[in-house]
Amino acid sequence: MDTVYENLVFDDNGLVGSQCIDCKEYFFPKTKSCSNCSSVDMTNKNFGTKGRLWSWTTQNLAPKAPYFLHDIKEDYQIYGVGFIEMPCGVKVKSRLQVSTVKFEIGQRMELKTSILEKPNGETLPVFEFRIEKE
Ligand SMILES: [Zn+2]
Repeated sequence: MDTVYENLVFDDNGLVGSQCIDCKEYFFPKTKSCSNCSSVDMTNKNFGTKGRLWSWTTQNLAPKAPYFLHDIKEDYQIYGVGFIEMPCGVKVKSRLQVSTVKFEIGQRMELKTSILEKPNGETLPVFEFRIEKE
């Protein structure tokens, strides 16, 4: 499992979040307590790699400094941002891989993990969702 931050856990086998043992509520990223019933009895839950697009938008303009990693904005590529509803019902906020096919609410999506290289050479495991291949 790649762990970018203590509570953000994922790999090619799926996103790992939390489930409250008392009220059964799901959370992603992982949490140490339940915001639904205040219980601290939590267990890890693998939400899998596939879900459906619940809502989305696209980022057509490069963000301004300091949020943009590169000095040259000509290589900026449009990306999507959206919520994926996983089979258990939890909604995961994620970057979306933009393709030639238009996004549609309810579309089947799949997890894709990769390694992002920062300008300083450091690497960061990241995930995004893309339209599920037939
Ligand atoms: Zn709970």
